[in-house]
Amino acid sequence: MNMRQNRDSRADLRQIPAVSRILQEAEVQSAIAEHGRELVVTCARDVLNRLRERIRRGEPVAVDAGSVAGQVLEEVYRWRHRTLRQAINATGVVLHTGLGRAVLAESAKRAIAEVASGHSMLEIDRETGERGDRIDHVRDLLCRLTGAEDATVVNNNAGAVLLAVTVLAQGREVIISRGQLVEIGGAFRMPDIIAQSGARLVEVGTTNRTRLSDYERAITGDTALLLRCHPSNFRIVGFVEEVCAQELAELAHRYNLPVLDDVGSGCLVNTEQFGLEHEPTLQESISAGCDVVTCSGDKLLGGPQAGIILGKKPIIEAIRRHPLHRALRVDKLTLAGLEATLRLYLNMDQALREIPVLRALAMPAEQIRRRAQRLKRRLQSSLPADRATVRLRPGVSQVGGGSLPGQELSTTLVCVRPLRASAQQMAHALRWHEPAVFVRIEQDEVVIDPRTLLEHELEAVVTALLSAGESC
Ligand SMILES: *Cc1c(COP(=O)(O)O)cnc(C)c1O
Repeated sequence: MNMRQNRDSRADLRQIPAVSRILQEAEVQSAIAEHGRELVVTCARDVLNRLRERIRRGEPVAVDAGSVAGQVLEEVYRWRHRTLRQAINATGVVLHTGLGRAVLAESAKRAIAEVASGHSMLEIDRETGERGDRIDHVRDLLCRLTGAEDATVVNNNAGAVLLAVTVLAQGREVIISRGQLVEIGGAFRMPDIIAQSGARLVEVGTTNRTRLSDYERAITGDTALLLRCHPSNFRIVGFVEEVCAQELAELAHRYNLPVLDDVGSGCLVNTEQFGLEHEPTLQESISAGCDVVTCSGDKLLGGPQAGIILGKKPIIEAIRRHPLHRALRVDKLTLAGLEATLRLYLNMDQALREIPVLRALAMPAEQIRRRAQRLKRRLQSSLPADRATVRLRPGVSQVGGGSLPGQELSTTLVCVRPLRASAQQMAHALRWHEPAVFVRIEQDEVVIDPRTLLEHELEAVVTALLSAGESC
């Protein structure tokens, strides 16, 4: 810093108003009335400290009480405004982990609101008034829907696998195919989970081919578990071979060993009806003879985040007694949402109609096209032609969320090309709209896939695009 800047900075530092002066401003006074004195004073100090920093760095800053007060109000707003807020998913990725995976069914939403708003019968036996078990709300349902003998639920599927491997194989060997040593997003790595459980990983086969004989040769007196993991988020094509659940279970049982099948997506329906490939279902895994089956609650199952563990009674009982089961305990809001979602599956037609994940997968091409045309009409009638062009084109939606990788569903995309700004700038404006809208960008166009929009969000998307179109 040279001498001149140094002198100027000192001059400016002296002009910075005192906290007490800022607090006298009328709008700061009303902020105190609304948000409390302590927060507003802290924010004022923070703003003033940042101004001093900027002056020391020689940056030009406004230091009059009015503009400082404005910054203080912004700071107060930032602290008081929720950031975990609603977002509109126009990306066409049905299970978008960044956007919270599965949207819940109305009945699940109502159940969560009800349980959140008062006391609930979470762990109490209505008949006797004695302490009950929170898992009882979903245990019979899970067994009925999947054919499992017993079931429990924890926080998420990563926790479910960690818990099951710990209970079944701590201090001993777990055999897994090299083709299934997967990483699922967010640092779920099968080898790390096995290490964390205190079990020893024994890899068999190769990345693309593993045979039953590979497993059999690896079995020793120290083997505790054969582990299968559904490669949810990638595909190997070509010269590929894996052992199916049934064959693996038969082999394991000949050696008196259990099989754990981590199926991932928790699918209860046949995905071929949506024009997708077959995704392994929970029922199939149970009837193949797997001793323990785990999955997520918030993928294809369409419920809240949870880790579902199904299986043979003695194993599930041991899992439920383990301290990790308590450490990974599922909370009451999750259970309320999961129970309501599972009850929908007792009537499969209702599940397909009311579970948003399934509805999005099942959405007829004609309905998507009508939505796309409606969006295009609304945009073209309001967006000035010199601001943006709007066109429709055929495209693809994705299942996402580590389910059915590489498989695509045909859709009709609405493509908006801003003429005075980049697509990135428009997408940024859409993200800062209330409610925030998330889109795809392709070939410098903002791309909207109507498949993942909820019916009531169509108008909000139009409003957001119009306002983004004006500001871009
Ligand atoms: C998604 C997935 C997981 C992780 O599940 P979370 O519920 O996100 O913890 C684990 N295994 C498989 C096979 C998965 O697909």
